[in-house]
Amino acid sequence: MAKLEIRNLNKTFSPKVVPVKDVSLTVNDGEFLTLLGPSGCGKSTVLRMIAGLEEPTRGQIHLGGEDITFRRPGDRNMAMVFQSYALYPHMTVAENLASGLKLKNTPRAEIKQRVAEVAQLLGLEELLSRKPGQMSGGQRQRVAVGRALVRRAQVFLLDEPLSNLDALLRERVRADLKQIFATQKAPVVYVTHDQTEAMTLSSKVAVLNNGYVQQLAPPDRIYSHPANLFVAGFVGSPQ
Ligand code: ADP
Ligand code: MG
Repeated sequence: MAKLEIRNLNKTFSPKVVPVKDVSLTVNDGEFLTLLGPSGCGKSTVLRMIAGLEEPTRGQIHLGGEDITFRRPGDRNMAMVFQSYALYPHMTVAENLASGLKLKNTPRAEIKQRVAEVAQLLGLEELLSRKPGQMSGGQRQRVAVGRALVRRAQVFLLDEPLSNLDALLRERVRADLKQIFATQKAPVVYVTHDQTEAMTLSSKVAVLNNGYVQQLAPPDRIYSHPANLFVAGFVGSPQ
């Protein structure tokens, strides 16, 4: 396991679109950091740069002391969960869970064992032969998280994984996520615009606005001592 360090990260798409400005963050093993902010503030762009899906204009990303800023996504050992789940519709749950591993030539017996382990952890044992189209949104989301867990990645990245679920289900899956990631030792970076998610899941929250980190602190601190009016307004602190 390894500490993730982001130093002075910047992204410029065009002179008028500069969604990430001097973002610095450290996420230790077992820490759950949430990037919280309104739509368009640069959260996904930060996450995509960590994953290697977007190249930073400036700044560095270090993992376990190594500079990985320009390393290819496939060589980063990070697992990402998307808002849209991105499951393979023609594959069963078991095949979807295993899909991250096959690329890496993992022996069949090991694939089977890891899939069984994760299916048990997520309560997916009964669903292993179903296809994504035959499941609810919450179940699909669990498969998407499971696919990330099967990889035993060094870092987990989640981009608004609950926003496609209705309110009731969102609360349930949120509680599931909290429990699941409490058992993981790897750093987690979670993106959301929902302050309740940020407050209940995170060990640290980075509030973003206009590409800048407005405050980086544990959730109770953000709530009780917001750094500025933007943070107070966004998290609904009394002030
Ligand atoms: P968030 O995830 O916080 O909603 P994003 O990081 O997706 O925000 O986007 C931040 C800003 O960057 C937005 O104005 C968005 O339109 C812009 N943006 C994101 N990706 C691209 C891209 N590939 N090309 C140009 N502009 C982009
Ligand atoms: Mg986004």
